[in-house]
Amino acid sequence: MMADFDLDRRQLMAVLGLGAAATAMSLPEVALAQGRGSGLSAGAIQSALNGAYDRYKGLNEGKNADYIPALAEVPSRFFGIGIVTADGKVYEAGDSRELFSIQSVSKPITAALVMKESGAKLIEDSVGVDATGQVFNSITAVEQYRGKEMNPLVNPGAIATVGNVKGTPEEVWNKIIGIHSDLAGRQLEVNQPVYESEAATNHRNRAISALMSAYERFPSDPAVAVDLYTRQCSINVSAVDLATMAASLAFGGTNPVTKRQVLDPSLVPGVLAIMATAGMYDDSGKWAFHTGGVPAKSGVGGGILAVVPGKFGIGTFAPPLDEAGNSVRGQKAIIDIVNELKANPYAQFG
Ligand code: GLN
Repeated sequence: MMADFDLDRRQLMAVLGLGAAATAMSLPEVALAQGRGSGLSAGAIQSALNGAYDRYKGLNEGKNADYIPALAEVPSRFFGIGIVTADGKVYEAGDSRELFSIQSVSKPITAALVMKESGAKLIEDSVGVDATGQVFNSITAVEQYRGKEMNPLVNPGAIATVGNVKGTPEEVWNKIIGIHSDLAGRQLEVNQPVYESEAATNHRNRAISALMSAYERFPSDPAVAVDLYTRQCSINVSAVDLATMAASLAFGGTNPVTKRQVLDPSLVPGVLAIMATAGMYDDSGKWAFHTGGVPAKSGVGGGILAVVPGKFGIGTFAPPLDEAGNSVRGQKAIIDIVNELKANPYAQFG
């Protein structure tokens, strides 16, 4: 590889021989100019995607989440896959534009927002970046660590993350919906029935928020933090939206479709590390075993976002979940695509 992202932009351009005209290039464009990402032909990507779609579209394993009543009503047959590459090209199959609630896939995005606003150290020191080894809404984990040493991807850490965004509730909400929209490349909206359904039944999350507040893990009002968190989990996205968000993370925080730099590249490795550690709940180890630790995040709405740094982003949607809470068809599709496209980082043997 000629150059890496740790060179500053000017050095990089010099190495690439791209001269002054290229100084306005975004990271996805740099990746393209370097021949990264383009190692894969459009045909190979579409064929891996179609293969995974065909293989799993009839698979009936798993069950919709039903502890949020509105999620039980979503048709289980939905199955969509999207891939977005450095050139902003969108590949898709199945119900790739169907909208569903983002749920926990929002958690790393709001963590990125707090890192952008207050520095990565705040997340590391005050929320934590380690796996709890317990289910995502565990109260035992909060008690065990007195609210410390969690991570932004379990509910206590995610609610504390929201509670660390600065501003009035309205300002906080605008920042949250803003960064999700910028990464997706379009204005996103809340799925109101899902929001109302969860808000009416989220007693456990309210307890977690109160407990985290009692341990002084975040400065805002705990009732406001859990409400904004619930709203954030209800943002409607499609598989293509998740793929675009994933691609924005794959290319150092710049959305390859809109070319907008949403996050500073220096923040992205930390966000991806958190996802690699705990993005697939208690099955994060199994996920690493099958993908080589591809940073990913799943949600109980049936979405998964997966990032192959420097190459592409994947988003999937299929509501039925396995015991760990991860979409059955989504996982299988991503595992196949990552391996078929030789994107497993532990399988790069030259
Ligand atoms: N809103 C959901 C909850 O708090 C998100 C959980 C998830 O996707 N794992 O329970």
